[in-house]
Amino acid sequence: MARPLSIAIVGAGMGGLAAAAAFRRVGIDVTVYEQAAQFARLGAGIQIGCNAMQVLRGLGLEQRLRGQSFYPRSWNNRDWRTGEIKFDMIFGESAEQKYGAPYLLAHRGDLHAALASAVPDECVKLSHRLAGLDETGDGVRLTFANGVTATADAVIGADGVHSIVRDILFGATPVSFTGRIAYRTTYPASLLGGEKIDDCTKWWGEDRHIVIYYVKPDRSEIYLVTSQPEPEFRIESWSAKGDVRELRKAFEGFDRQVEQVLAACPDVHKWAIVDRESLAHWSDRNVTLLGDACHPMTPYMAQGAAMAIEDAAVLSRCLDGVKRDGVANAFRRFEATRKERTELVQQTSRANKWLSGKTNADWVYGYDAWNVPLAA
Ligand code: FAD
Repeated sequence: MARPLSIAIVGAGMGGLAAAAAFRRVGIDVTVYEQAAQFARLGAGIQIGCNAMQVLRGLGLEQRLRGQSFYPRSWNNRDWRTGEIKFDMIFGESAEQKYGAPYLLAHRGDLHAALASAVPDECVKLSHRLAGLDETGDGVRLTFANGVTATADAVIGADGVHSIVRDILFGATPVSFTGRIAYRTTYPASLLGGEKIDDCTKWWGEDRHIVIYYVKPDRSEIYLVTSQPEPEFRIESWSAKGDVRELRKAFEGFDRQVEQVLAACPDVHKWAIVDRESLAHWSDRNVTLLGDACHPMTPYMAQGAAMAIEDAAVLSRCLDGVKRDGVANAFRRFEATRKERTELVQQTSRANKWLSGKTNADWVYGYDAWNVPLAA
């Protein structure tokens, strides 16, 4: 029997793990190489759009995620001061019926752990930071900073916005700092002292906003994430802490709900929001990019991870039944199927107007990556 196609994925983030799980479904021999020494559960929430849930259902993770995540009635959009509703994007059962999958609000660590549970431990190599790639007669050779080398038929760079795989393929270009920062944290809702807040609301201010939502089915944990100007701050790291007093000051005068959530907030991370122009191409021969490595975006539509997860499903379909000599074509097909959509989401997200008024969201949430037609 012919040996299965072997694929090395660089990066065990949302996209890399989703791709590994999806590739295993079509019989690909997959190994994921991750630079981190361990997976950490960091304080952030994540909106899992119906479009991402379609993919996660196919990976067998729906029940687990429903059990661990919050099921909101809507994503509401309100004026920062008056509380007036600008647009209430209804989710819950009606959206689930319309889009074919639920909209869930999760702890980022729960989503990551769910994806990791779909990939056997022996397929994930931690403490492997990619340093170099070369095409050889036997395939693509990966060299890691720890001195290890490995060879695979093909390589996927799922290594995020600062992708080294992208730098190797297309040359290094600096990331664009947007001049804005995000404060974010999760904390026990009990700290709110019984105050009730909306399920999920984006509070739109003049030059800043804050999104607040529950991340647990029993409303026991809440998450907040902001965006506001601070051009001098240029650190993207989970170890960068923010000063919660400065955060409260920055949102003074916002609706009482916001002030209460910030008053109870014990601690925050602070993160520079970055962006990149879209790439002309994503792949070169038997190496391709996926997720933030090829289409990073501002977080304003809550769709970055969803795009990476959709990529995983579409790429697995393009690779289904393909041998090593068909990989380059499969990668071109993947790019041709995905590029227009991810560029539109990048641009729409950059504008930061999503759901700020009446919006037809069907094109985003109604996408089914398992069944969408593949490019010729
Ligand atoms: P990443 O998650 O960045 O994973 C890349 C992985 O590669 C990491 O594990 C990294 O350690 C590893 N890596 C990097 N370099 C190397 C190397 N040289 N060798 C080996 N491993 C390497 N998206 C949503 O869908 N919903 C949301 O609600 C949402 N909210 C967001 C809020 C904020 C404030 C931000 C900043 C983003 C948000 N996103 C959201 C976007 C989402 O976080 C990203 O789009 C998503 O994480 C991209 O997944 P990825 O797998 O492509 O990259």
